[in-house]
Amino acid sequence: MTTPRIAFDLKPSAQPLSDAERDALLREPGFGRHFTDHMVTVKWTEGRGWHDAQLQPYAPLQIDPANMTLHYAQTIFEGLKAYRQRDGSVATFRPDANARRFQNSARRLGMPTLPEETFVEACDLLVRQDRKWVPSEPEQSLYLRPFMFASEVGLGVKPANEYLFMVIASPAGAYFPRGVKPVSVWLSEEYVRAAPGGMGEAKTGGNYAGSLVAQAEAAEQGCDQVVWLDALERRWIEEMGGMNLCFVRGSGPGATILTPELTGTLLPGITRDSLLAIAQDLGYGVEETRISTDGWREGNADGTLTEVFACGTAAVITPVGQVKSARAEWTVGDGQPGSVTTQLRETLLALQTGEAPDPHGWMHPVS
Ligand SMILES: *Cc1c(COP(=O)(O)O)cnc(C)c1O
Repeated sequence: MTTPRIAFDLKPSAQPLSDAERDALLREPGFGRHFTDHMVTVKWTEGRGWHDAQLQPYAPLQIDPANMTLHYAQTIFEGLKAYRQRDGSVATFRPDANARRFQNSARRLGMPTLPEETFVEACDLLVRQDRKWVPSEPEQSLYLRPFMFASEVGLGVKPANEYLFMVIASPAGAYFPRGVKPVSVWLSEEYVRAAPGGMGEAKTGGNYAGSLVAQAEAAEQGCDQVVWLDALERRWIEEMGGMNLCFVRGSGPGATILTPELTGTLLPGITRDSLLAIAQDLGYGVEETRISTDGWREGNADGTLTEVFACGTAAVITPVGQVKSARAEWTVGDGQPGSVTTQLRETLLALQTGEAPDPHGWMHPVS
């Protein structure tokens, strides 16, 4: 049986922000601080499925105090960006990949799956309606935040029988305002982000809630970000905060990009996947493998591991410059952004802004 396409009702705002007010916000957007004039909502109810799809003015929600999400955190999200292209048009990056990951997250949390085409159409509708909010300065973009949460009211613990899917959008400047300056990282040996069989592969708020105390510990240690290790041995590198990690072995054209393999406890990043493909396009070797904290320290000391960077939609690529744990401390290479890191970053950004060809067909034009 094929499910009928979900049709959206368009209810544009009668009072969008004026051009002058919007332009003032776009001058220094920050990250996730300002939101566009509209949002998308789609409901799901047991027995009825997806219905009541709307593009409507951005507005607060009214939530019952016994809303299940507030208590049991049955909620998932995505993050993707719309980029102003060199020719003035707007395109999103791999929204189909986000749609599929959203379905996987939904399955892990016992939630209904949203059809891929509805996810992409919801993003398209919002970007099209609020296209004036897509900034055009370098490193700027419109960040889209699709999410879904249980909307049933009640305190019984069970998968909810009612959900709300939404998309909101926020203009974004550079995620780390210091630019591509390398970050320092704290290897968290006490707290873990995810254990085998847990929710590490799902993009869900609970993973972030559990990470905040470790991030605070990293800050106390004078570090910018936390690096997660595996739950069983506290030995294998998993990810950095909300970004995947890549290591460069060797240098020049013979370099190889190493990244922790997807064991189920780390988030399968779309930036990670894209960079592995781009690295191969550029002639580098690529290996998904296991990297230990000792292996990192030793490889750094003997010069075999030359560069390390984190990658994710929000910050694209951020070099790692300093590493600290309870027992050791080292500088990655010379502490400056490496040449492979810089080349990968510029190649991906050029593709996303239409300045370079798109051999993989990743850009999705929003006409
Ligand atoms: C979203 C996320 C990433 C990066 O995924 P992208 O698709 O590249 O943005 C990495 N780790 C975690 C924990 C995340 O939530």
